[in-house]
Amino acid sequence: MADTPASPATDPRAKSGIPRNPGRHELGMKATLLFPNKEIVERFYVPLIYTACRTCYSELDPQEIFRRAVDGEVNPAAMQRLISNVIESGHGSTIEHIVFTFALSGVSRTLSHQLVRHRAGVAFDQQSQRYVKFKGAATMLPATIADASPDLRGRYEEHVDDALGLYGEMLEAGIPGEDARFVFPNATRTNLVMTTNLRALIHMSGLRLCTMAQWEIRRLFQLIRHEIFGVSPFLGSFLAPKCVPLGYCDEFNNRDGHCPIRPHKDEVLGAWAEKKAAAKAAGRDLPVTD
Ligand SMILES: Cc1cc2nc3c(=O)[nH]c(=O)nc-3n(C[C@H](O)[C@H](O)[C@H](O)COP(=O)(O)OP(=O)(O)OC[C@H]3O[C@@H](n4cnc5c(N)ncnc54)[C@H](O)[C@@H]3O)c2cc1C
Repeated sequence: MADTPASPATDPRAKSGIPRNPGRHELGMKATLLFPNKEIVERFYVPLIYTACRTCYSELDPQEIFRRAVDGEVNPAAMQRLISNVIESGHGSTIEHIVFTFALSGVSRTLSHQLVRHRAGVAFDQQSQRYVKFKGAATMLPATIADASPDLRGRYEEHVDDALGLYGEMLEAGIPGEDARFVFPNATRTNLVMTTNLRALIHMSGLRLCTMAQWEIRRLFQLIRHEIFGVSPFLGSFLAPKCVPLGYCDEFNNRDGHCPIRPHKDEVLGAWAEKKAAAKAAGRDLPVTD
């Protein structure tokens, strides 16, 4: 007899809900928008993107388009509508003209390793473990370990403390920092400066605000989104999990639909196939591409 799939209630591997929102825990990390400030964003950023968009379709030169936009001769709602249409159509180069610089502090090395995997349209500078002597290196305590049995939590903390203690002893023994740092755990906190254009920021946010992303980096991008909202709710509205603009979820690990933000693409394609079969049975074919 074929195996009957276990119901979510009986299958211990089945996922029961979207991952807990990391925002519920104070993680001790910070993301601060260093540049630009609200005044600059409000005065220049939408006009800059608008100028890039309009230049493609206008006889006017970009100097004149920009002047009109900055001097209030273009309806702000019309500028936003054009920008929304261009972003939603995927014409991404127009939003590479504006950049944001963030100070990111207190994130773990686990996070920074993931973050610096992004290559296109983003620049990083990170605190050096060679040149900085960490007298009291700070570490991250994941919520699951904080909430674990006192024994497990205690052993985690002991392990991390031992590693940092050994680091200090090695420095005192004259071992260079660049070698002593080999004992640092992934939990070690670090600081970075990140500058990104809007296209890259939307792309990174799409991946990292997704509930499939690791909780710490997801929290970081929630903080980043909050900063962008602080200077421009319009631009901030484009920072969303990638399923939001797509209209469906393309994550393999969400085929069971445990994250309900958008239906999984298998579900969408299944509905499409049913619609197609029904149309065929009724003597009508749905349009197909050549
Ligand atoms: C949930 C999740 C799980 C992950 N798990 C793993 C894992 O287990 N192991 C692992 O190694 N990584 C993992 N990653 C990292 C992932 O594979 C990417 O390296 C990372 O997200 C950077 O994204 P990106 O490739 O879109 O790069 P970005 O630099 O952000 O690039 C943006 C876009 O530019 C284009 N682009 C950039 N560079 C090139 C290029 N050289 N050639 C062609 N096009 C380019 C692509 O369209 C790309 O999507 C994971 C990421 C996520 C979000």
